[in-house]
Amino acid sequence: MRIGLTGGIGSGKSTVSAFWVEAGATVIDTDAIARQLSAAGGAAMPAIAAEFGPELVAADGSLDRARMRELAFADASAKRRLEAILHPLIGAETQAQAAAAPGDLIVFDVPLLVESGRWRARVDRVLLVDCSEATQIRRVMERSAWSREAVEAVLHQQASRERRRACADAVIANEQASLAQLREQVLTLARLWRKEQSRGL
Ligand code: ATP
Repeated sequence: MRIGLTGGIGSGKSTVSAFWVEAGATVIDTDAIARQLSAAGGAAMPAIAAEFGPELVAADGSLDRARMRELAFADASAKRRLEAILHPLIGAETQAQAAAAPGDLIVFDVPLLVESGRWRARVDRVLLVDCSEATQIRRVMERSAWSREAVEAVLHQQASRERRRACADAVIANEQASLAQLREQVLTLARLWRKEQSRGL
């Protein structure tokens, strides 16, 4: 079974992913793939340099993420042009990793699953990690030096909580859950979905 795991910034996707690994799933992290593609020597870098020029390439040959973020915020077409380069490469790499994955459960960690549209058809279930925006902001500020304004700017670019919920087949509640409760939710769902899979559902 292929599961698309999604949720907004700081909702707890990485934390939940680790419990899926414990449940025997293979987790494929599309953000990590995007970072590899745009690291020094990454497969996306020649096209990125050709499209955006040397200003967007850092001294070590990787994508200058801070400049790209600024440009993408200021210019929606730049964001689309970057995505047009990255998305097909991310799609190909995730499919390659999925084809090589052992076991019966594959979890794709896709932060923008709801926003991108194309992921729905690639997975059997959409699983949402859900919490309030206030909690997202608090978690991101606690784990990094981001300002409240910076987190809010990202939140406003992402789908709303309601829109995500409307797309989800199941929801992991991560508002007040302890890590033990989070783990239990994942292990219960893994058992249920394995059972459904064995019945061909
Ligand atoms: P992003 O999309 O921004 O990478 P994410 O959705 O993967 O974020 P995590 O990195 O898993 O989110 O969680 C954000 C932060 O909140 C982390 O520091 C994580 O340890 C913490 N966190 C998440 N859920 C819980 C929880 N239930 N209890 C305690 N800490 C949590």
